[in-house]
Formats: sequence, C-alpha cells, structure tokens
Amino acid sequence: AKAAGRNTYRFFSPGMDAQAHAQLRLENDLRRALDRQELLLHYQPQINAQGRLTGFEALVRWMHPQRGLVPPGDFIGLAEDTGLILPIGEWVLRQACLQARIWALHCAARGRPPLRMAVNLSARQLQRPGLEAVVRQALLDSGLDAGLLELEITESSVMDDPLYTLDVLKGLRQLGVQLSVDDFGTGYSSLAYLKRFPLQRLKIDRSFVDGIPHDEDDVAIVEAIIALARKLKLQVVAEGVETEQQSAVLQRLGCDELQGYAFGRPQASGLIDRLLDTTWRD
Ligand code: C2E
Ligand code: CA
Ligand code: CA
Ligand code: CA
Repeated sequence: AKAAGRNTYRFFSPGMDAQAHAQLRLENDLRRALDRQELLLHYQPQINAQGRLTGFEALVRWMHPQRGLVPPGDFIGLAEDTGLILPIGEWVLRQACLQARIWALHCAARGRPPLRMAVNLSARQLQRPGLEAVVRQALLDSGLDAGLLELEITESSVMDDPLYTLDVLKGLRQLGVQLSVDDFGTGYSSLAYLKRFPLQRLKIDRSFVDGIPHDEDDVAIVEAIIALARKLKLQVVAEGVETEQQSAVLQRLGCDELQGYAFGRPQASGLIDRLLDTTWRD
C-alpha cells in the first residue's frame, strides 16, 4: 500500500481483525479528506522574551464526519506510511502561506512588525524531489514574503540522508525561507552536520520543558541545548511551555522564544484574528 496513489482504495477482506479493519477504514477516509475539505489548520502563537507575539506554528487537524476533530497524532503516521502526507503537506503549506499573508497585511496596516509562520515538513516531503518548486509556488501564489515562512524539520528526517538533505535545505534557504529543527534533543543528530546545515532555529522538545524546574537533568539538557545554539548562532524556541514558572526559567536560561499552552493553544484563524485586535495589541 506504500506506493498506492491518492485515488487507490484498498478493500476489506473477511479475515481481517478489527484493528486492521478500523485502520483501513481510516486510511480510506483520509484519502478523501482533502477533496472533501475536511482538513483545517490551527495556529499556535510563539512569543519572544519581551512577551511580544512573533509568529505562529500551523498545526493540521482533521474534521472527520463521524469521529469529530482528529488530532494529527492519530493520522500523520498513517499519512506518512501511505504517501498521503505529500498532498496533505502541500495543502498545509499553501494554506499556511495564504493565512500568513493575510496576517502580514494586517500587521503592515497597523504599523506592527510582521509575524512568522512555521510549517511542519515530514521526512517524506523532504525526500521528495521538487520540494523547492512546491515551496516557491506556495510563496508566489500567496504573495507571502519568503522570510516570513519557516519550515520545521525533525532531526531524524535530516539525518536519514544528510548529504541529500543538505542540498535540499540549501535550495530552500536560497528561496529566503527560514529553517528550524523540531523536537530537538529527542532524535539522533550529528553535531557536525548540524553545523553544516543552513539552519536558523532549534526547537527544544516539550519532553525537556516538562521537567522544568524540578528535574535537574532536564534543566541541564535545556542549558546545554541553549549553549550549543549560541555557539552555532541559532535561535532557540522552547515548546510545550505550560506554566509561568517554566516560562520564567526558560527566559532566564536565555531562550529566545516560547511556545505553549501558557501563551495560547493552537486555535482556528478566526480566533487568532480576534486576538490580534485585542490581547496582542501593543
Ligand atoms: P509538533 O510539531 O511537536 O507540534 C507541537 C505539538 O505540541 C502540537 O500538537 C501542539 O498542540 C502541542 N502543544 C503545544 N503547546 C503545548 C503545551 O504547552 N503542552 C502540551 N502538552 N502540548 C502542547 P498537535 O497539534 O497535536 O501536533 C502533534 C504533532 O503532529 C506535531 O508535533 C507534528 O509532529 C505533527 N503535525 C502537526 N501538524 C502537522 C503538519 O501539518 N505536517 C506534519 N508533517 N506534521 C504535523
Ligand atoms: Ca513542529
Ligand atoms: Ca515539536
Ligand atoms: Ca513533538
């Protein structure tokens, strides 16, 4: 089924167990989700040390006709296994660029600095030839300034084939987009490669942030990541910041930006529109 295209449906057979059956149903539903416009994006704010809003991370959701809102953790893996992540990822990218362009105009009209938009890229997208053209087209069609788009890649997808990835990332960087490493610290990564990659930002994984301030190991790891980022001249974003106390410690340790429930959950664009006119006014 890995090579099966978007319009290829697999069929149920009598010998299948209930779990395989449910999985196959989900897969077939996911194949139709894009055409049926069941996918949507939520946007989670990122703030800097001064408490200013700097941008958003776009996070996909699936409004399933029977199941309701399905979180990405329940379908991204399936999308990756089936290759559906390619059309889905492209849709996410295009949609996020369009929304970012709207917010860029909104900010410009109010004399405020523009807001960045971060989009997650899966390993499959990164390995697929033509990614650069897809990104270029999304920027052209939306009119978004390339510098406002940030692409998040995970350590493991970078390390899959570092030499090929290096080439792809250089091409993306030439378009003017920003590049960040997501879930930093959770995967295997070669620091030698990290230095060679044209990156702008590291995102400290939530699992380390969770332990702050009580877990000494987590505090030490976060300190080490920030020190490493400084040496490599990278910005650091901490994700999964849920409490005031975590926020204070992370800022004291020198984190450049924070993201987490303490500052806002991922929300629909309409709710963000309202925030932009109220809470985030400066
Ligand atoms: P991620 O890229 O690490 O995204 C951050 C996840 O942490 C999001 O979960 C977000 O809602 C959640 N989060 C944010 N702040 C907090 C917090 O303070 N506490 C806690 N407990 N959680 C927080 P979400 O939206 O369920 O997404 C899960 C994962 O699914 C993402 O992890 C990402 O790996 C993947 N994903 C989401 N959207 C996309 C997409 O468009 N493309 C791809 N390839 N993957 C996506
Ligand atoms: Ca991410
Ligand atoms: Ca992450
Ligand atoms: Ca994660």
